[in-house]
This record gives sequence, structure tokens and C-alpha cells, in this order.
Amino acid sequence: MSGATIIDGKAFAARLREKIGRQVAALRQKHGIQPGLAVVLVGEDAASQVYVRSKGKATVEAGMESFEFRLPPDTAQAALLAKVAELNADPAVHGILVQLPLPAQIDEAAVIDAIDPAKDVDGFHVVNSGLLTVGGQGLVPCTPLGCLMMLEDHLGDLSGKRVLVLGRSNIVGKPMALLLLSRHCTVTIAHSRTRDLAAECRRADILVAAVGRPQMVRGDWIKPGATVIDVGINRIPAPERGAGKTRLVGDVNFDEAVRVAGAITPVPGGVGPMTIAVLLKNTLTAACRAAGVAEPEIGGRE
Ligand code: NDP
Repeated sequence: MSGATIIDGKAFAARLREKIGRQVAALRQKHGIQPGLAVVLVGEDAASQVYVRSKGKATVEAGMESFEFRLPPDTAQAALLAKVAELNADPAVHGILVQLPLPAQIDEAAVIDAIDPAKDVDGFHVVNSGLLTVGGQGLVPCTPLGCLMMLEDHLGDLSGKRVLVLGRSNIVGKPMALLLLSRHCTVTIAHSRTRDLAAECRRADILVAAVGRPQMVRGDWIKPGATVIDVGINRIPAPERGAGKTRLVGDVNFDEAVRVAGAITPVPGGVGPMTIAVLLKNTLTAACRAAGVAEPEIGGRE
């Protein structure tokens, strides 16, 4: 039997995108500005193509301008850097996203470094990571910011909560931990060298799993009543659906966790939809800042 509240990221993201759409319309009407998001895809990675398509669609639906650039898989680093420089200089482009992963001949860090931090809507540039660390006004990585918004929407004030962030990547785990610290949580970051991971998880009022291991977090790792945010997106074989079929699962064993947790995000339909919604929010923020216009208040609380 399901005990936990299911945190509906899809519905939350839809409400957020509507709010953003209204703010974009107001920005155009009052200031004649249309936020623009440029997405650069290098190569033919199937998952990346799906992401880029849905980002473009969501951008247009929010009333923003979408610029899409598809470069061949053998693109040289210099050519990609030249494209980034062109977009940095283009006043119609307020946000730049280079879809990761990049082919092996390209140094991802060099490309991220080349993006103007004011247009870095992924929030991966070292200037933006630095600003997040010192509590400044940078652009914040979309996935962890989406998780924070869902947590604040569900729990309200997070102050004093004991949190376990499972995973320490630069795009999810570390920024997630910093955001929760900024909300006065007591944060532990766990990773592949953590000892007795299950016991660490069991202490947490909030567990954020961003580990990339299908269904790794078991029900008995979860403190009864805890809030569980499952960032993981893993494709596993699903023979029950037919030969060769697959399905998406998170990093948490949902069927077990839902009996113990107080609230949990599903996969799919949890964190995933929030990531694109926050990308639009960051693009709107970047456009407002570029124009010197006050940023609309689009918070996590509903
Ligand atoms: P990374 O592979 O960059 O990081 C994984 C982290 O998990 C690392 O810190 C690693 O530890 C840790 N880890 C791996 N195995 C174990 C283990 N057995 N025990 C404990 N810790 C372990 O992944 P990402 O942060 O990029 O992504 C994590 C997940 O989130 C993936 O499933 C990804 O698909 C998903 N994701 C979802 C998004 C969304 O929009 N919903 C967006 C981005 C990611 P160590 O550092 O020691 O190696």
C-alpha cells in the first residue's frame, strides 16, 4: 500500500511554465524584450536529440525565441568555441545551452568556460558555481534548483532539516547541497567512498538521490516519513512489456520507498519535467538582467 504523498513534478512544472509564459508576455509588452534561448547540439546522441527537441518546444510555448544549432559529430573544438563566441555576442540570445555530453575530441570544461556567465542558463560556468558557493546572484543549475523548488513547495521552510545528498557531481549533487545549505539545512554529501551509506540515508529528513544507479536506494534506507527526491533517470530492460522493451526508473526503489517515505517524487514525472521549466526560468532571469529590468518573482511556493 502506498503511504507516501506523490510529489507531482509534471503538474508543478506545468504551473511554473504557465507563470513564466505570463511573465514573458509582460516583458514583451512593457519593455519590447523577447527572451531567447540558444541550444547547441553536437553529434547524434539519441537521448540528447530528444532533450533538445523538448527544450525547443517548451521555449516556444513559453513565448520565448528558440535558436537551435545542430553541428556534426566530428565538429572541431575551435568551431564549437567560435559558435559560442557568436552567441555570446548576439543580443537576441539571452541564454546559451550546449547539450552535454560532447564528443570525445571536445573538452567540455573549455566549452563551458567560453560561455558568457550572464548567458550560462545551465549554471555550470565556474563564475556561477562560485557565486552559488558564496551566496551571490548567479545562474543556478536547473535540476537542483527544480528539486529545491519542489521541496519548498511541499515542506515550506527547510531550516534545520537533516539532508542526505547522494552524489557529488558538479551538475547535481554539489549545487544541490549548496542550495540546501543556503536554506539552513544540515547537509551531508554521500558518494562512492561513503561508509555505511544505508545508515547515512536513514538519518535524513530529506533524501536527494542523484547517483545514476537504478533503484539503488532501498526502502529500509529511508527514515519513516522522510521526503525523497529521486533525480535518477535510468533505462532498464522491461521484458514484462514485451521483448526488447525498456522502462525508466530512478535511483530509488520506488515500490519499497513509497511505503516508508512521507513524500516521494516518481520517475518519470518528478524531477525531469522541472529541469526544463527551470531552464526557462533561468532564461527569463538572464533576459531581465541583460535589460536591467526587475526580475519577476517566480518562487517555489505556490
Ligand atoms: P554522475 O555520474 O556525474 O555522479 C554520480 C555520483 O554518484 C558520483 O558522485 C558518484 O560518486 C556517486 N556514486 C556512484 N555510484 C555510487 C555508489 N554505488 N554508492 C554511492 N555513491 C555512488 O551523475 P549525475 O550527477 O550527472 O547524475 C545522477 C543521476 O541523475 C543520473 O541518473 C542522471 O541520469 C540523473 N540526472 C537527471 C536529471 C534530470 O533532469 N532529472 C538531470 C541530470 C542528471 P563518486 O563521486 O565517488 O564517483
